[in-house]
Amino acid sequence: MIGVYSNLYYPTRWVPLRRRGLGWQRCNEMYEEHGCIASCGLAYDKILELVLDIKGCNLHCKYCWCWKMRYHSEDIKKSPKDVLRDLECRFDEVVKDKFVSKKGYRIGVIRITGNEPSLQWDHVKEVLKLIDRSERLRSFKVIIETNGVAFAKMDVNGLDNLEINIDIDVSFKGVNYDQFEWLSSVKREYFRYQIEGFVKLFDYYEGTNVSVNPVLGINHAENYCVWKRGKKYVMDVEIIDKYGNKLNFYDYSKDFEEEVLSRKELRYDEAPFREYFGINRETTRLVVAVVYKGRRYLHILPSELPDLI
Ligand code: SF4
Repeated sequence: MIGVYSNLYYPTRWVPLRRRGLGWQRCNEMYEEHGCIASCGLAYDKILELVLDIKGCNLHCKYCWCWKMRYHSEDIKKSPKDVLRDLECRFDEVVKDKFVSKKGYRIGVIRITGNEPSLQWDHVKEVLKLIDRSERLRSFKVIIETNGVAFAKMDVNGLDNLEINIDIDVSFKGVNYDQFEWLSSVKREYFRYQIEGFVKLFDYYEGTNVSVNPVLGINHAENYCVWKRGKKYVMDVEIIDKYGNKLNFYDYSKDFEEEVLSRKELRYDEAPFREYFGINRETTRLVVAVVYKGRRYLHILPSELPDLI
């Protein structure tokens, strides 16, 4: 069962670690030649994560951070065994890195993300089985990031037979039908599938090794910093509707409130806006306003603030 991946973001994940004095791992130079897909970055504090970016999605979010990955990077095809080999190889490289150990960092998370892992679910399940059997990897938490839509019509079982701890983060594109339709650029009915996908996963896995969490897939960013020519610019970034109004992410639809929030609290802190290099700048501008020194600028990105150019 072949999975399709991208390694477009491979070296960028290590950049924050270089800033923390961890050097530039040689994997960041060799990954293209080796076709490696196991990138490594910072999860939190001193915990590192191995990250797999799966290609392909069923939504078209205007602000999508991995738009470039989907449309401007080559497909890298891997069997589950190839994926395991990449993960274990990267794990070995990180473990023997003297900067990593000297600074007290260690790997604690494997993140399966990118575009939409549920679209290659049979492959992902095989990868999870291999991680579960890997002496080197099975102690790590696995986080799967999904929009949940496809799960509404899929069999979700199978992960509770494993021993690894898994978080499935269902990333909601807004909290009601209008927000969803605007942000995701697909039919509003799909918001119902997000809800149904979440409910199905949550109810099936409640009380098992799999924790299913609702998270907000995009949020406003207060005190967003841009550095230019050694100067720091601090601004607020708002996520806006088609009329330019700031979206209210507490304006829940009835079914979202009754079926999602009744089960688990929504995590708001997962995805504040970031001007990632992988976005489509044109569509992202449509959902962004920047507030700087008391003035509000519609449809510009933080780096495009007049003071910065
Ligand atoms: S943000 Fe996620 S769900 Fe939306 S288009 Fe991008 S990959 Fe798909």
